[in-house]
Amino acid sequence: MNAELIAVGTELLLGEISNTDGQYISQKLAGLGINVFYHTVVGDNPARLEAVLRDAAKRSDIVITTGGLGPTYDDLTKELICRVFGKKLVLHEESLRRIEGFFADRGRPMTENNIKQAYLPEGCEVFSNDWGTAPGCAFKAENCVVAMLPGPPRECRPMTDLRLVPYLASLSDGVIYSDSVRICGMGESAVEALLRPIMENAVNPTVAPYCKLGEVELRVTAKAGSEAEAKALTAPVVEEIKSALGDVVYGVNVDSLEQAVVAGLRDAGLKLATAESCTGGLVSKRITDVSGSSEVFLGGVVSYANSVKQNVLGVKAETLASVGAVSAGTAEQMARGVCALTGADVGVSLTGIAGPGGGTEEKPVGLVYMGLCRGDKVTVTELRIGSRGRTRDDIRSQAATTALKAVLDEIRK
Ligand code: ATP
Ligand code: MG
Repeated sequence: MNAELIAVGTELLLGEISNTDGQYISQKLAGLGINVFYHTVVGDNPARLEAVLRDAAKRSDIVITTGGLGPTYDDLTKELICRVFGKKLVLHEESLRRIEGFFADRGRPMTENNIKQAYLPEGCEVFSNDWGTAPGCAFKAENCVVAMLPGPPRECRPMTDLRLVPYLASLSDGVIYSDSVRICGMGESAVEALLRPIMENAVNPTVAPYCKLGEVELRVTAKAGSEAEAKALTAPVVEEIKSALGDVVYGVNVDSLEQAVVAGLRDAGLKLATAESCTGGLVSKRITDVSGSSEVFLGGVVSYANSVKQNVLGVKAETLASVGAVSAGTAEQMARGVCALTGADVGVSLTGIAGPGGGTEEKPVGLVYMGLCRGDKVTVTELRIGSRGRTRDDIRSQAATTALKAVLDEIRK
């Protein structure tokens, strides 16, 4: 099945907001193994919206709109969909009661035009809205399935997860199941090059890559009569991917790298501490994002100034004077220092040049040294994250990701 997303809203066309709903829904559809062939953005203009809907109805199996379900006169999505697909709008009593309840809960009077939101296409499946007022809905038309979701992301996202995805999954006779293989330390193109034979021939399961900074996720999605059968299809492909890629695969069906690090430390009975300069505490932030990290994370030092590197972490003045703060020697002493200070089993340090200023020919922006201390052994790695097309944020976030992966590799040794 192929799908098309139509984002309705003049603000989107004016560039005032970006189509994050489209991005979110697309990711979820990919997870269901549904191909998305078109994203269209159209303003709150009845003629153009109608034309877009007619095109979509011709070429797509699933048409999903976002926005324009509100109470005001310019919210027209539902009305035009009904015109294009020959549906009548009828009052949905339960939705009306919910909208009344929403206003009562907030102690605000409901205005007359909110009643419009309770009118839905006859015979549709209603997507109740626990996060706002406008319900979404879906129905089967002659040649396609049509679904409408409200525009505000705090309504659209949960409605996608809790209403749209189960609805679409229920349309197919089988079960769709995905495994997520998480990769860090290898770029998307290198991953694809190694996996080309597996990916090219993959039909059921399909293998689709998604990349974010410093990480690649592969979704292995199978369709079968039952979840057990679908899992039996994905499992061997996941194994094949793991053996083709090796250690860069840090987990399957884990939420995040930091989650894997916290779990790994817990399993190994080890405590971690961090010493961060250029990342300003990002590694400790990401570790402490994980609930339960207090069991394994002792703390970190944000040693931004040389005086703190020296006085708190015990980096030698000679090192700072001779090779500077961004150096292998400093990274090594920072990692060792934070272990000594906190009694951690594993210490990780980062010092580098995040830019955009401050780079030199010898030490360019994007140069980062990472130290990893385990017992009395410290390993230092020089990272060349690069500066072209990289923001300060990118460099810091990539450095933090690399450090988390290094910790994971160390504790899994
Ligand atoms: P409301 O009941 O709030 O009017 P609605 O379903 O009519 O909701 P719109 O009026 O089109 O939706 O948009 C409401 C707000 O939702 C917009 O101001 C914008 O902030 C956000 N929004 C709409 N569409 C998108 C989108 N595609 N991506 C991200 N945000 C969006
Ligand atoms: Mg609106």
